[in-house]
Amino acid sequence: MKKKLLLIATGGTIASEYTREGLAPGLAAEELLSYVEEHREFCQVSVLQPFGLDSTNIYARHWLELAACIEENYASYDGFVLCHGTDTMAFTAAALSYLVQNSRKPIVITGSQKPINLPVTDARTNLLDSLRFASEPGAYGVNIVFDGKVIAGTRAKKERSKSYNAFSSINYPSIAVIQDGRILFYIDDKDKLTGDVRFYHDLNDRVLLLKLIPGMDGSVLNRLFAFYDGVVIEAFGVGGFPEYGEEPFYPEIRRWIDAGKIVMLATQVTHEGSDMEVYRVGKAIKADFCLMEAYDMTLEAAVTKTMWALGQTDSREEFRRLFYATVNHDILLTPSQVLRQ
Ligand code: ASP
Repeated sequence: MKKKLLLIATGGTIASEYTREGLAPGLAAEELLSYVEEHREFCQVSVLQPFGLDSTNIYARHWLELAACIEENYASYDGFVLCHGTDTMAFTAAALSYLVQNSRKPIVITGSQKPINLPVTDARTNLLDSLRFASEPGAYGVNIVFDGKVIAGTRAKKERSKSYNAFSSINYPSIAVIQDGRILFYIDDKDKLTGDVRFYHDLNDRVLLLKLIPGMDGSVLNRLFAFYDGVVIEAFGVGGFPEYGEEPFYPEIRRWIDAGKIVMLATQVTHEGSDMEVYRVGKAIKADFCLMEAYDMTLEAAVTKTMWALGQTDSREEFRRLFYATVNHDILLTPSQVLRQ
């Protein structure tokens, strides 16, 4: 039996056309599908177009809308394929991983570096591969399919702005590769999934990602205090946190923590993750405020998981529990594992 899939088109380069103002989304979902007629051999596709945006303009409100689209249609389809711009695709994939958990049905996100209506483009391969993967019995949960790679929704990062191989899987292997239409799983673990799909309806998007630069004045946190409930700080290396003469970050972090806000430490280095306890610069501030760190998670996952967990609870303890519980392969190293070393 052919799989019944829902194609949800949201815009992005894949659906873009050249205009005098620059590339902009213009092609509708049906048009995208018309470029990959071969899909009819293995699946039956319906379409939905909640919006048509450059993904530059996609944020938490749209993530909730996409999760709601999937929830409303969940019972009627075997899988979902979302076409999305590449620029913020990793954020959307991570956000959907938290908003739609434990799904036995695949939710595939794809896009392209070139519009689908060009003679030479990666779009047709990416879309056809995505429909193929969403029709595969071993596929489940939220994944990005791009340039022959299947990447867990929480592990993707756009690392190249122009090449076809735009996305990498960070600190985790790709779930599968797709070569000439053949799917080869590296991680084939659908059997381990137990329980029902869970949909979440709340995110707290008052979360900031702050990248340290040498000499940054910690009072920046003071200015941001009123606007955010959580901050993910991109520290240096495995987790170096500056201790300049007057330690300007210390009083600010104390203020955030005392106010019940979340201060999460992460690394600005893309690969291999944080470990704040290695150097004195990092270990002390983590211990003094009992700060959490993102370890091997991507920044996209750390930010959206913070939004999601803050949307579920006001309790710091519950936040900690939610944040360190693995969702869609997002974290390997957790505090208990660190303690065991
Ligand atoms: N600016 C586009 C977007 O993110 C880029 C792309 O889709 O590749 O929507």
